[in-house]
Amino acid sequence: MEKTVSALARIRVSRRSEAEIVLKDDSERVIRPMTAGRAAHTVGHARIRFSRPKGTNLNAIAALQADEPEVLDQHAAVVAARDVVRRYGSGDTAVEALRGVSLSVLEGELTAVMGPSGSGKSTLMHILAGLDRASEGRVWIAGNDITTLNDNQLTKLRRSHIGFVFQFFNLLPMLTAEENVTLPLQIAGEKPDAAWLEKLLDDVGLTDRRTHRPSELSGGQQQRVAIARALVSRPSVLFADEPTGNLDSRTSGEILELLRTSVQSYGQTTVMVTHDAKAAAIADRVLFLADGQIVKTLGPSSAAEINAVLAEVAR
Ligand code: ADP
Repeated sequence: MEKTVSALARIRVSRRSEAEIVLKDDSERVIRPMTAGRAAHTVGHARIRFSRPKGTNLNAIAALQADEPEVLDQHAAVVAARDVVRRYGSGDTAVEALRGVSLSVLEGELTAVMGPSGSGKSTLMHILAGLDRASEGRVWIAGNDITTLNDNQLTKLRRSHIGFVFQFFNLLPMLTAEENVTLPLQIAGEKPDAAWLEKLLDDVGLTDRRTHRPSELSGGQQQRVAIARALVSRPSVLFADEPTGNLDSRTSGEILELLRTSVQSYGQTTVMVTHDAKAAAIADRVLFLADGQIVKTLGPSSAAEINAVLAEVAR
């Protein structure tokens, strides 16, 4: 199915998962996924009519149009932070865990956050996911400025927009795999979409384990349950906090493949904190934190390239 959109556009192609504008004839241009590795370029300004296959990343296109970072943050990025400071304590003993962090995560993008221990990764993830509040600065999730929300509003927003995967799975031991997966919907008083639930259980490879309790599952299987639980509400963004930190290397590989597949097949926007370069190597973009600031950003990179940058920023 195609949808025709008319817009005044300045189209700039910049990253792998974004779009390019292809001139079909004088009046019509088509947005299509960009091929990997193309350099950034500006196509120009024009009022154009374009058709896009259903499900194409329109947010990315809108982001490409925006010259103003504020506009981009509010309207196009799934997650955005601007000048975020997080201070613990006060006076002489105050610690600034984040010292002015700005970033934008576009739809359908997998972003990895890396950095030495104590660089502010967990603090940043908790603030982006609305689990902690910034001392200064602003944070948007799906266009909502969460820094203006009260606790109830924030809880509601988290429920509908955010999925979370933890290092230690955090499953409820008395519930079966399937009950764990559907729990977030039950808490929200919603019924699972049966077809989506079946697809999800199948995609994560749990169909024949659905009635097992966590104690009857391996670590990798438990993390699969946790991933399905995070995805069941079709969140705007999935946050993964060291998702492979408690798994052996073979199982880690399988979990990373699953996360990458969910980006590829469902267009699932994902932000993953990790200290493992092999994990960060599946990302479209790697942000490096040091001393509470983003000090370097890489596009798709190998584990060796990521380790080299990590050694540099840890100095
Ligand atoms: P990372 O996840 O990269 O290891 P953190 O975000 O946990 O880093 O921590 C960043 C900095 O903030 C560290 O210096 C840490 O000691 C400090 N910090 C984190 N949480 C607290 C807290 N609750 N109270 C005081 N300092 C904290």
